Amino acid sequence: MSAESRLPNSPPVVADTYRLRLPGPIAVPERVRLAVARPILNHRGPEFRDIWARTIAKMQPIIGTKQPVHIFATSGTGVMEAALLNIVAPGERLLIVCNGQWGERFSTIAKALNAVVDPIDVPWGQTVDPAVLEIKLKTHDYRALVLVHNESSTGVIGDLKTAGQLVKNTPTLLVTDSVSGLAGMDFQMDAWGVDIVVAGSQKALMCPPGLGFLAASEKAWGVIRRDSGMPRFYFDLRRTRDAYDKGESTFTPAVSLVQGLDAALDMINEEGLANVLARHVRVSRGLKAGAAAMGLANFATAKMQSNTVACFHVPEGLDGTKIVRRLYDKHRTVIAGARNRLQGKMIRLGTMGAISEADILTDILHIEDVLAEMGHKLPKGAGVAAAAKAF
Ligand SMILES: *Cc1c(COP(=O)(O)O)cnc(C)c1O
Repeated sequence: MSAESRLPNSPPVVADTYRLRLPGPIAVPERVRLAVARPILNHRGPEFRDIWARTIAKMQPIIGTKQPVHIFATSGTGVMEAALLNIVAPGERLLIVCNGQWGERFSTIAKALNAVVDPIDVPWGQTVDPAVLEIKLKTHDYRALVLVHNESSTGVIGDLKTAGQLVKNTPTLLVTDSVSGLAGMDFQMDAWGVDIVVAGSQKALMCPPGLGFLAASEKAWGVIRRDSGMPRFYFDLRRTRDAYDKGESTFTPAVSLVQGLDAALDMINEEGLANVLARHVRVSRGLKAGAAAMGLANFATAKMQSNTVACFHVPEGLDGTKIVRRLYDKHRTVIAGARNRLQGKMIRLGTMGAISEADILTDILHIEDVLAEMGHKLPKGAGVAAAAKAF
């Protein structure tokens, strides 16, 4: 499962029998876990300042930006909130694309901040039509357009490049969440015209949960710095930026997790970012082909689909919750169902991080076994054969 268990000269000491195959958090490679276990450093001392600076520098090409990357001790939702908190004033309007659970989360946060939310409701599994976006954007002076990059509840990608074009010469900011996309899928913040991106450590970045990332464009900083915004403190990006300019974190950073991130980014750079992204394409394609051969239809119907999360309809007559439970009980393979209106109707797997073709073949074998046991008719071995062909 983990990268080190594939090195011929370093067999795992403990057998990896627990197969964490969620769309996050994901299994953390041993090299990252060992880095997390290093001694705690003085967070304002020379050693940590060095780690802090080089870790931020290594994050920039993954985000595709020359802007500072801010690192917080928080889960993904914390930086989602931070993004909106720093740009809206009460009563300002946000246009939020809702085609899954994470777009809805943004709406919920925005409402909690007393922003006015105009949702664009799109059937789950699909994405917003750019023509609709264009028309909607003309109806009001929106503070921001919010479009999730990688909607992990459906496996659909938001077209940020097109959205960036639409807001480019307007006062509207483009805000996105790439918690589950970053480091597994191409992301070009500056080139696409993304104004604020947030991400998390526990997905394709191969770290334990607990770090949130945020980067903002010059245009966004103009809004963040105005005096008329929301009251804020821990997540006040003006304060964050002041500390950043001194090479520090405002408050005590999650020293251990940042040391882990430093190691994870080294792993990505040693493999090469382009190779990492290509491997995500391969494993995702293989899993989807294997699943299709077993009668598991892909949930997403949009053209732009995720390479980091795979979502499948549960075959007629079967209960997705039971499939998830049985996979764990029998094979210790931990996958996800749906924690929303699709509960029982969908299963989801991560195809991100330190993951190989062999991991996908094992997933398919386990799923085939459990589906057959539940009475689903499928040709034996067809999933593995289809996946192997698709890689
Ligand atoms: C996993 C995920 C998150 C995570 O939020 P947490 O607060 O860390 O649970 C946010 N957005 C997306 C799109 C995700 O896939």
